[in-house]
Amino acid sequence: MNKIAVIGTGYVGLVSGTCLADFGMEITCIDNDTEKINALNNGIVPLYEPGLDIMIEKNCYYKRLNFSTDTKKAVEENEVIFIAVGTPPKEDGSADLQYVLKAAEEIASYMNGYKVIVNKSTVPVGTGLKIKEAIGDILKRRKVNFSFDIVSNPEFLREGAAVRDFIHPERVVLGADSQKAIDIMKEVYRVLYINETPFLITNLQTAELIKYASNAFLASKIAFINELTELCEKVGADIQQVSKGMGMDTRIGSKFLHAGPGYGGSCFPKDTKALTKTAKDNRCTLNIVEAAIIANENQKRRMAEKIISAMENVEGKTLSVLGLSFKPETDDMREAPSITIINSLFEKGARFRVYDPQGLKEAKCIFENIKASITYCINEYEACRDADAVIIITEWNQFRNLNLSKIKNLMKGNHFFDLRNIYDPEKLKQNGFIYISVGR
Ligand code: NAD
Repeated sequence: MNKIAVIGTGYVGLVSGTCLADFGMEITCIDNDTEKINALNNGIVPLYEPGLDIMIEKNCYYKRLNFSTDTKKAVEENEVIFIAVGTPPKEDGSADLQYVLKAAEEIASYMNGYKVIVNKSTVPVGTGLKIKEAIGDILKRRKVNFSFDIVSNPEFLREGAAVRDFIHPERVVLGADSQKAIDIMKEVYRVLYINETPFLITNLQTAELIKYASNAFLASKIAFINELTELCEKVGADIQQVSKGMGMDTRIGSKFLHAGPGYGGSCFPKDTKALTKTAKDNRCTLNIVEAAIIANENQKRRMAEKIISAMENVEGKTLSVLGLSFKPETDDMREAPSITIINSLFEKGARFRVYDPQGLKEAKCIFENIKASITYCINEYEACRDADAVIIITEWNQFRNLNLSKIKNLMKGNHFFDLRNIYDPEKLKQNGFIYISVGR
C-alpha cells in the first residue's frame, strides 16, 4: 500500500501527508483552498511547524509528495484516503461535521472501487458510522456497489512538535470493524509497526472516544494546576514547587503541570466542549470536564484582572505583549489566551505594542477590530519601547533570556508580568522591576 490521498492540507493533513511521504509512500495532499495548494506548489509552506518545510522540499523533490485541488483524481487513483479536515466548534459547543461529511460525500461521488476511508479529524463518537451511512447513500444513488471500510485513526500530534510526534508516536490507534482495513492500515504504518510503536486496535466508537478522552484529561490536568495558582498566591505557596512535588509521583507525572494563563489552541477548548455536548446528547454529565472548561475561562480572565489590579489602572497605559500564539513554536492563534487577555485590557483602555516570532500575521486578522490600539513590532525589544509594562504570555525560547537592563532602559514603567513563570522573581526585582508571576 504505497499510494495515499489526504483530504485537507492543514496542520494535521500536511504533517501527516509529508511524514507518510517520508516513510516512502506516494502521497497526494488535497485541499479545496486553491491559494494554499498554489502556495505549496510554489514551495511556500502556509503554516509554521519546525522541520516541516525541509521535509516537504525533500519529498517533493523525490516526487513522493504532491499537492492538488483535484479530489476526483485523488479518489480514483488511491485506495487509501485520509480525511484530515477541520471540525470547528458550533455555537452550542458541538463539533461542526460539515467538512468531514462533505469530504466523505466527495469520496463517495468519485469512488471507482474498494476504498479505505481513514478519518484523522477529531470527531464525536458515532461519526464513523455517519460517514459510512452517507457514503452508502450516495453509492446507492449512483447505483454502484463498491465496497469500502471506515477506519478511525485519531491524531495525537502536538503543534510545535508535530513532525517528531508523527514519526515517533507513543501509540497508533486504529478503530475499524474490518480486519482487511486494519491489515491495510498496518501496511500504511509499516515503518512504525516494525519499529515497535504500540498499536491499539479497537472498534470505531472506541477509537473516536480515545481522542476526546485524552484531550479532556490533559485539559483537566492543566486546568487543575492553574486553578491552584490563586490559592498559592493567597497562602504564600509556590506553584512551581507544588507542581514539582506532585510530578515526582509517577502516578501523577510531571507533564502538563506547568501553571500559566490557561490553555488555548485548536484542540483542547473545542474538544472539551464537544465531549460534554456528546455526553449531554447521551444523557450523561461529565462534571470534571465541565469544571475544567469553566476553570480555564476563569484563569484567562484572572490574568487580565491581575494586571489591572497591580497597575491600579491600565487606561491610557502602553502594554508590551511578548508572545501571542497559543504556545511556542507555532503560528496558531486559535483560542490563544492572548486574545482574551488583550481584549479584556483593551476594554479598560490599554494600548499595546506586541511581538510574536511567528504569530503576527494571524494576530493582525484576529485583532482587526482593535487595530488602532495595537502596534506590531519587529522584535521583543521594539515591543518594550516606552511601555508601562511587559507581559509575557507565550514562552518562546527567545523570551527566556531577555536582556533585562536593555528592556528596563527602553521602558517607561517597570511592571513585568510573567504569565509563564520563566523568570526568577529575585533576579527581576534586583533589576528594578515590579515582578508578578502566576501562583507564586
Ligand atoms: P486546519 O483548519 O488547519 O486544516 C483543515 C484543512 O482542510 C483546511 O486547509 C481546509 O481548507 C481543508 N478542507 C476542508 N474541507 C475540505 C474538502 N472538502 N476538501 C479538501 N480540503 C478541505 O485543521 P487542523 O488543525 O489540521 O485539524 C484537522 C483535524 O484534526 C481537526 O478535526 C482537529 O481537531 C484535528 N487535530 C488537530 C490537531 C492540531 O494540533 N491542529 C491535532 C490533532 C488532531
